[in-house]
Amino acid sequence: MKYPQIVLEPPGPKAKEIIEKDNRYIMQSFSRWFPLVVSKAYDFIVEDIDGNKFIDFNSGIAVMNVGHRHPRIIEAVKSQLEKFTHYSITDFLYEEPVKLASNLFRITPGSFEKKVYYGNSGAEANEAALKVARGHFQGKRPYIIAFTGCFHGRTYGAMSVTASKPIQRKNFYPLVPGIIHVPFPYCYRCPYRQKLESCNYWCVDFIEDWIFEKFISPDEVAAFIFEPIIGEGGYIIPPKDFFPRLRKLADKYGILLIADEVQSGMGRTGKWFAMEHWNTIPDIITVAKAIASGLPLGATIGRADIMDLPPGSHASTFGGNPVSCAAANAVISIIEEENLLENARRQGEYILKRLNEMKEEIDVIGDVRGLGLMAGIELVKSKDEPLPNRELLKKVLISAFKKGLLVIGAGKSVIRISPPLTITRDAIDISLEIIQESILKNIK
Ligand code: PLP
Repeated sequence: MKYPQIVLEPPGPKAKEIIEKDNRYIMQSFSRWFPLVVSKAYDFIVEDIDGNKFIDFNSGIAVMNVGHRHPRIIEAVKSQLEKFTHYSITDFLYEEPVKLASNLFRITPGSFEKKVYYGNSGAEANEAALKVARGHFQGKRPYIIAFTGCFHGRTYGAMSVTASKPIQRKNFYPLVPGIIHVPFPYCYRCPYRQKLESCNYWCVDFIEDWIFEKFISPDEVAAFIFEPIIGEGGYIIPPKDFFPRLRKLADKYGILLIADEVQSGMGRTGKWFAMEHWNTIPDIITVAKAIASGLPLGATIGRADIMDLPPGSHASTFGGNPVSCAAANAVISIIEEENLLENARRQGEYILKRLNEMKEEIDVIGDVRGLGLMAGIELVKSKDEPLPNRELLKKVLISAFKKGLLVIGAGKSVIRISPPLTITRDAIDISLEIIQESILKNIK
């Protein structure tokens, strides 16, 4: 198949019709980068309603890790649909979620005994993690420490630990109490204005020296919650000792680590879970997005000894839906059998090499970063004036869309690259060329 293929400048006439109705019928509380109206998709190609074929550098926001419409996902889903579609593990039992649990325990870091809770989304997985953390300590540790820059979802608990963009909380107060935010290590724009060479991880020491000394007692803190790599907030990768040091601090005071791997998990970074890059084992990992290839499912996986909420205290009608669990079991087999972790690593290294070359040549690229197929290009006014270049980001994404590449933004001015893990070298070359042309065109 030839890709990309633009037959009618998007949005075409059929797309315009849907856009107009969507605007009228659907609450517009999301922010869209460009008007794509999807009609079908296959592997890393998405077709719009007017017949244009795009390369997918989004994966439906880090969801379609095994590619769109993978035949084995379709087969697993069909086979489950023919048996039964729902019966609620809140009150009854069936096989798929149990099978999925042992698969998840095998691929998540930590050799200890684990238990899982199933919800329907990333936000729900995080809600459950927060309840488990507070519930495990039976109310004796009411505080949660979260990080500025991290995004955890939009329900009340998840929103309360989120600190990515003010609009996500504006007008929704009061939020869940007992949550304290500390700065995340964003070394390109260090919140403490330090340099990594000399900071000695002040971002970790600050918590002990200032929060625990001046503000709250560490024995009242249930958990730290964080994204291993910030996703929505700008594809930000912490430096190499950050998580080992945070683990040490947490252990010193008996505080749990909750790693929100909703975006960075399920192979996205070339390992099953991003925390493996830091050799740090969290107590709880939250997973959603790519877990079931687009079917709704969230999982909160934790040490068996802390996943001890009492009967009746937490549940969800649809959590652990058999069709979603069947898809998730297929996702895990596909990633393993098609060596997609290896492909994510290999293609990710290539992307990063190419991005570094682009950064040398183009003054408005301030920083590039990536682990596996989670890569970002931070656009700035210029290397001498590295202020975020939001206007340019919008223009670049629209230009790329018109040329047949689906790629969106993150943070203030970051191009976020997260294609399916099946992406090929050829598709990457074409896509990076489009990104480069789109940047150059819009700075002329
Ligand atoms: N956590 C992270 C890291 C995410 O990226 C997201 C979604 O973008 C969420 C949580 C929320 O997931 P959901 O939209 O499925 O509730």
